[in-house]
Parts: sequence; C-alpha cells; structure tokens
Amino acid sequence: MSMFFSKSKYCSFLQCPKMLWLKTYRPQLYEVAPEVQARMDEGNAVGDLAMGLFGEFTEVTALKADGRLDVSRMIENTKNALIAGVSVICEASFSYHGLYCAVDILRKTENGYEFYEVKNSSVVKPIHLQDASYQRYVLEKCGVKLVGAYIVTVNPDYQRPETGKPDLQAMFRFQEIGKELTEKSEIELDLKIAERMIKSHVEPKMSVGEHCHSPYECGFQKYCFGKE
Ligand code: SF4
Repeated sequence: MSMFFSKSKYCSFLQCPKMLWLKTYRPQLYEVAPEVQARMDEGNAVGDLAMGLFGEFTEVTALKADGRLDVSRMIENTKNALIAGVSVICEASFSYHGLYCAVDILRKTENGYEFYEVKNSSVVKPIHLQDASYQRYVLEKCGVKLVGAYIVTVNPDYQRPETGKPDLQAMFRFQEIGKELTEKSEIELDLKIAERMIKSHVEPKMSVGEHCHSPYECGFQKYCFGKE
C-alpha cells in the first residue's frame, strides 16, 4: 500500500466504506456536531490523564507550525525512544508502507512490549477491538515484539476528587484483548478493498441506516440523508 492510511481511516472503512471515500474526496462535507466534539475533547482529556498510569513516561507527540501533528517527527521520536530503552512511551508512532498508527501507551516489559489503548468508556466495545487490531498489525509489521494488548477503560464507580490529582489506579481498569483481535489475513483483505475503493473516483453506493449512527455518529449525515 503506497497511500497514507491511518487507524481512523480503517475504522471509518469498517463502519461504512462510503464514509472513507467521502473523507478522501469530499472532506469539506464532514461536519462534527458540538456534542460529538465535546465527547472527543473529553476523551482526549481522559487519554492525557491515563499517560501517567505506569509512572514516568515519554510522550513523543510533535506538532507542525500550523498545529497539526508532525507524524514524521513522532515516528522518529519513537524510534529514538525505543533505541534508548524508554520504558513507557506515549503516543508511540509507527508507519509501515504508508500504514500509520499511534498507540496511547507502549510499555516495555522483560519479554517485549505491551500496548494500551485508552477509551473514554466503561466497557470494551467491538470497535475498540477493531481499532486495536489495526494497531497490532502495524506494530508487528514494524518489528515490535508484542507480548500484550490492552484496552484501558474508565471505572464508572470511581469518584474523582474535586481538587487534586485523581488516583489513576482506581480511575482506570484494563483488559487484555490479544485473543480477541482480528487475524492478520482479514486485516490485509480489508486494507486491499479499502485501497481499491480509495483509488476509485466513483462514489460508492451505500444506503443510510443504523451504521450512520453506530459505533460513531457519522459527520456526513447531512450530505447523505439530504440526498435520499
Ligand atoms: S451518513 Fe451513513 S451512508 Fe453516509 S457516509 Fe456516513 S455512514 Fe455512510
């Protein structure tokens, strides 16, 4: 695959192939509802907190002058952190033939690395497994020796103190999901279909339905629903 592909593109494709096509050819039609944006912001804040789950960490995030992520620098920073033997790398970034991904937490253990994806949710959902499957695929292709894959969820019973730092061990829970991830061959098939579709200039036909709302609210609803 020679194009730039990401975890969010992979998940868009699985939710609705047309969503991925529209993101590629008609991105200006994408609209994020305020409540969706608020949820994303909340998710980012939860992700930032979870970085400290295993104590000291190195975050490799790098931004360009225009504020967008500098993916190349993040990949370079990750390589350097791996060489230096850093034990907890946050936003660890990898690319394999144009397939890009960043994992929330990459943790070194005696036998290899574990990765942790943080979700602003109290339960592990199927979409979390799909997105972690893509991550595991890219990491393994990049030669990272993985010995564990986890989804970090928020403990709904935990009451955050009004002031001071939350107790991260009590606030978060994590679940090993390695056995529930999609096989490599299935991911490769999905990626092939997605690549063929992205290369086509013809908008795919797809009726609106339940998939427009789940697992995520699609930002092209105005466009698609308006057309029907
Ligand atoms: S609104 Fe529905 S049909 Fe249109 S791109 Fe989104 S998920 Fe697909």
